[in-house]
Amino acid sequence: MNNNSLLSHRKEEPENGILYIVGTPIGNLNDISQRALNILKNVSLIACEDTRQTKKIMNKFNISNKLTSFNKHNSVIKTPTIVKNLKQGKSIAIVSDAGMPGICDPGEDIASIVKSEGIDIICIPGACAAITALVSSGLPSSSFVFEGFLPKKKIDREKILLEISKNEKTTIIYESPKRLRKLLQELCEFCGGDREIMIARELTKKFEEHVGNNIIDVIEFYKDKNIIGEITIVLKGLNKKRESNLDKLIIKKDLNDLMNAGLSLSAASKYLAKKNRLKKSEIYNLI
Ligand code: SAM
Repeated sequence: MNNNSLLSHRKEEPENGILYIVGTPIGNLNDISQRALNILKNVSLIACEDTRQTKKIMNKFNISNKLTSFNKHNSVIKTPTIVKNLKQGKSIAIVSDAGMPGICDPGEDIASIVKSEGIDIICIPGACAAITALVSSGLPSSSFVFEGFLPKKKIDREKILLEISKNEKTTIIYESPKRLRKLLQELCEFCGGDREIMIARELTKKFEEHVGNNIIDVIEFYKDKNIIGEITIVLKGLNKKRESNLDKLIIKKDLNDLMNAGLSLSAASKYLAKKNRLKKSEIYNLI
């Protein structure tokens, strides 16, 4: 990027026939950008998840504009009208209650429909809890997995938990405060209590809190607490090398135990090879 590319940008005023996906704050209203305010002020219509939430921003920044509700309950009915208005040349902004629309919020489906109709979308970037939590966690952030809310159905949930436990990348999860304790127990079971984790609570708000180190510490921290507020979890990926060293130590100990109990080296190795799905020679190599 050169200096010119920083200076040359799109027109500040909304353009006709464009859908603007506008990021809004996740707590601190001052996190909204000038560009977002300008778009909200000047588009033909703002489609928002909950008009009461969006009015808080509008009131704080003295903006008045037309609002229409657009959420998971009415998006199917309202999408064709929005597409029609865009085709007629109107400019429309989509906002969710907080953060980036489309990230566990309404916006994903309409973006895909609008794009398939050949209409341009412009995103006005804003806060996102996942990225804010990731960057403040200090955990590896150049490559990561965003899971959003985990599925509730046991079989789907366990499948994802298993995937998370084996993933070497940092994982970001959204969870409600009511279910945090249950999720921490599950993560402990699947990933082990010593896996690094950070719980980001109330990001950008007055009582912002970051609780870490490992899963066991975090479970202990929340043991007797009344958990309230919004929560994002950042979990460090699997350290494969460390994990395989730990496995080796456990097998070595099992081998010693079996031989102390009277088994021959050959019999103990054969048993442990089968149990750990390894070759007998790999067990021999451990000693
Ligand atoms: N679209 C939003 C975004 O870009 O982050 C996410 C919306 S999703 C419905 C709401 C979830 O995001 C919350 O349950 C919580 O997990 C997370 N979240 C939102 N605001 C947060 C905050 N201030 N601190 C921590 N987590 C937050």
